[in-house]
Amino acid sequence: MANFVIVGAGECGARAAFALRDKGFDGTLTLIGSEPHLPYERPPLSKEALVAGAGPKFVAEPQRYVEAGIDLLLGRSVCGIDRAAKRVSLGDGTVVPYDKLLLATGARPRALPGTTYGGRIAALRSHDDAARIRAHLMDGSHIAILGGGFIGLELAASARKLGATVTLIEGQPRVLSRGIPAEIAEIVARRHAAEGVEILCGAKVARIEERPGEVRLTLEDGRVVAASLLVVGIGAVPNTELAEAAGLAIENGIAVDGMLRTSDPDIFAAGDCTSYPLSLYGGRRIRLESWRNAQEQGALAAANMLGGADIHAAVPWFWSDQYDMTLQIAGLADGAATTVRRDMGEGTFILFHLDAAGQLIAASGIGPGNAVARDIRLAEMLIAARIHPDPAELAAPETKLRKLLAA
Ligand code: NAP
Repeated sequence: MANFVIVGAGECGARAAFALRDKGFDGTLTLIGSEPHLPYERPPLSKEALVAGAGPKFVAEPQRYVEAGIDLLLGRSVCGIDRAAKRVSLGDGTVVPYDKLLLATGARPRALPGTTYGGRIAALRSHDDAARIRAHLMDGSHIAILGGGFIGLELAASARKLGATVTLIEGQPRVLSRGIPAEIAEIVARRHAAEGVEILCGAKVARIEERPGEVRLTLEDGRVVAASLLVVGIGAVPNTELAEAAGLAIENGIAVDGMLRTSDPDIFAAGDCTSYPLSLYGGRRIRLESWRNAQEQGALAAANMLGGADIHAAVPWFWSDQYDMTLQIAGLADGAATTVRRDMGEGTFILFHLDAAGQLIAASGIGPGNAVARDIRLAEMLIAARIHPDPAELAAPETKLRKLLAA
């Protein structure tokens, strides 16, 4: 009987395990994760888990793993892959053989040089991190956040909902500088300011000191921020060490081909830890840290571990909820030559990004609730269809995107 092993029991690993069973895999299936919890979704960690103290949102209830015959090894870390013998070894000495192996090892918070997380300095990646941070979020507390990316801004919104004072420090001249258009970042920053968040952009931290009852940040320009907790959200780094030690190719993540195969034909990799070529963008190698990508690649890796030859070609998609606003991004806008704005009223708009040849390559939108959701979904299909739309038509709110798709 075949042995399939998945290392990493996050969204991607768990989805892959269920997909293998759904597709008829009837061998032994082992899912190994270092966290003590059942696989859970990470998007609530910066929102519901902080605001409401919600417990982990499990990918599936415990019974479903039993029913699907998935052997879950939780709170256990894989410390080595023996590719010649085709087995993985765990920290406690256990050895698990495999015929096919999937690495879904995810990413971890980027470290701030010279600083260790613990005490009054935290990062937010796991449910336990969220619970620790939540204990500091209350009326009268002061939270300092380093990094104005998705983590920093979603956390700032949650902290304000709980009445905490928030100072957010970003090294770049503006928040959301990675892949989000300035026009949208500006709206986000203004809303945070209106909610009482102090945002310091272009600010560099010179010194961080933990003192009794507080953590004190001294900025290079001499300003001092004293807070009860500092949360660092300065990006994530892929967990590639296991793959690297096993001699697999690494290129800003575990390098896989379009079918999510590593440089070893019996080892696949998927999700945040993986870089892959995306044909939609000229085969350029990208690494996506996104919830939907983790799900899609988990399912695709499962199909290909069973002998399929599907290529990962999905249009990248991200969303972020802050206060009552949602921003959504489909595609990659960094190769854009032209941007067209489509106003939809009540502060809702979508920016369509076209390359030099006039092809639609990305769309970014912001608005209350799910105001942009339907059009971004359609934009995603237009991007996948590689259309070269008339910019004036895109800008006109009366143009039905569905009509462009049909054309
Ligand atoms: P991020 O989105 O990459 O943003 C980090 C920000 O911190 C960047 O603007 C970065 O600027 C800045 N920064 C870096 N070093 C700094 C320093 N020393 N001082 C001040 N600012 C600094 O990363 P993140 O917000 O930490 O999120 C981590 C991961 O969680 C990402 O994968 C993210 O996509 C994911 N996440 C996603 C969502 C969502 O999709 N809604 C929500 C939460 C988390 P530079 O560009 O100069 O480094």
